[in-house]
Amino acid sequence: MRIGFGYDVHAFEPGDHVTLGGVRIPHAQAVRAHSDGDVLLHALCDALLGALGLGDIGQHFPDTDPRWKGADSRDLLRHCVRLMHEQQYRVVNVDLTLLAEAPRLGPHRTAIRANVAADLGSSPERINLKATTCEGLGAIGRGEGLAAHAVVLLAHADSHARPIPR
Ligand code: MG
Repeated sequence: MRIGFGYDVHAFEPGDHVTLGGVRIPHAQAVRAHSDGDVLLHALCDALLGALGLGDIGQHFPDTDPRWKGADSRDLLRHCVRLMHEQQYRVVNVDLTLLAEAPRLGPHRTAIRANVAADLGSSPERINLKATTCEGLGAIGRGEGLAAHAVVLLAHADSHARPIPR
């Protein structure tokens, strides 16, 4: 088993939507980013890379590289999933937390879990999605941006066949 943790944050700028978990959500602001600025998927990519011992998202998708300008973060996620499959790991479960005063995730929860499950080759039951505000505290509390935490647990393909070393 391997565990990984990821964190991402982006500032808001003028605009009319944000992308979270691959879902376009109407909002009074947009996210300032080289890619589509999907904090949930960026945190998840970092968690996967962390679990695999493969560094971080900035090493794999440098924001100085024009290939990733305006990138769909689901493409980044699917790239990380290919790396996971190369090492013969699969997802046991994912726990995602959005930190934002707005927008509210409620109406989009099912669609986001379905997107993440599809990209991971997993099922929505293994993808948990939480959201919290920052109670008005700090930059996120003032509505200047949003952030996400992600934790993943991976199992090796033959982990059931191998005795656990003592
Ligand atoms: Mg990011």
